[in-house]
Amino acid sequence: MTDQQLDTIIRGGTVVTSTGTRVADVGIAGGRISAIGTNLADAANIIDATGLLVLPGGVDTHCHIEQVSGAGLMNADTFETAARSAAFGGTTCTVSFAAQHPGNRMRDVVADYEALAQKGAVIDHAFHMIVADTSGENLSHDIPALIAQGHRSIKIFTTYDKVRQDDHAILDILAVAKREGALVCFHAENDGLIRHMTAKLLAEGKTAPKYHAASHPREAEIEAIDRMCRFAEFTGARIMIFHVSTREGVEIVRRARQRGVPVEAETCPHYLFQTADILESDNPARFMCSPPQRTEDDQEALWEAFDDGTLQLVTSDHAPYRMDESGKFANGTDSPFNRIANGMPGLEVRLPLMFDAMVSKGRSSLEEFVQLTASNPARAFGMSDKGEIAEGYDADIALWDPKASHTYGADDLHDNVGYNPWEGTTVTGLPVTVLSRGEMIIQDEHLLAEAGRGRRIPMKAFS
Ligand code: MN
Ligand code: MN
Repeated sequence: MTDQQLDTIIRGGTVVTSTGTRVADVGIAGGRISAIGTNLADAANIIDATGLLVLPGGVDTHCHIEQVSGAGLMNADTFETAARSAAFGGTTCTVSFAAQHPGNRMRDVVADYEALAQKGAVIDHAFHMIVADTSGENLSHDIPALIAQGHRSIKIFTTYDKVRQDDHAILDILAVAKREGALVCFHAENDGLIRHMTAKLLAEGKTAPKYHAASHPREAEIEAIDRMCRFAEFTGARIMIFHVSTREGVEIVRRARQRGVPVEAETCPHYLFQTADILESDNPARFMCSPPQRTEDDQEALWEAFDDGTLQLVTSDHAPYRMDESGKFANGTDSPFNRIANGMPGLEVRLPLMFDAMVSKGRSSLEEFVQLTASNPARAFGMSDKGEIAEGYDADIALWDPKASHTYGADDLHDNVGYNPWEGTTVTGLPVTVLSRGEMIIQDEHLLAEAGRGRRIPMKAFS
């Protein structure tokens, strides 16, 4: 197979890539996968993977970590707690946000977030630059310079006060992204429609959390996804639509792709497994997110969109806020729906929820699970050493026990959020051992590695 001295061999597992599955040994040297075959020669460390699946570590390209929101609220998770939680859930690489606020220099923002991740993250990571201020030298100097350093993803909000960008600014950003070879990701919802509905509901005294869903009507997403696809078509810039939640949103992306528009799109587990009626349950602030959960018909459309390649990625949109005055209830426990923080934890549950639905329940194949959760996200964001079990790739590997089962409890995750929105949900198939660049970081439900060992992964130029 190879003359190279191996550091570690993962022996006898069922190795799954985006294109195939076979029983094989995986040899690791210098933190990279250096051989895949049968009966690999000896190594200092042998990991017995008999009866286990050997999968690429998950790549979660949409998560909020140690971030200050547009409303000025700090996430509950630091890089230490978020990356730990991700690792326990079989994820070995995150892309979170370097969030600019109006008045900030983009280069300072990115430097600050890089320093936080360098200190806290146990796994590798990259950033999307949230652009909220294109003035001064931001768009003319900082952003092109940062793109050249491998920060090749930009995130734009079409709604939310303070951070949202108008059409003119969005087109300016898309033009720079096209010129410099960056990808532009969108939270795409029509701001006017959300503000109109929010004011109407509040005026009618409809302030309870359940009215959050009505305040983000599906037409808001539909309109904004279509507009952003048209802008991509006009500028030629590559775009990514975050958290598609509606059948019509999927159809717009599908038709844009058929026209040759360079658009990709993702969705998240809560749109696949929860519906809007979850906001009628006890303590509904736990489940508030934007866009809101929709209907069973929308869920079916999202699954169909995986099957024909319209949606390529599943991310967590991990947005951690505690159920107290530090987070969800920063404006008081009786806050109207529009003053309760949006988001829920998802880094640790994303892969088990998707594995259970796709593999254990037989909806799709192991290879498709790997594509949606690891190889496609890595490819979409130019992280060419991540997301596959193949020679030359980083040895970011999760060993899964397909028979292990767990019913989620009220607060059984390794983040700092204090609740699990999936309480009572049973998943079959769980990661048991996790390696990052060949180093065992999780084994037998223990974290073995130190915070701060994670590295920033530069995104490669898109061809
Ligand atoms: Mn969003
Ligand atoms: Mn988000």
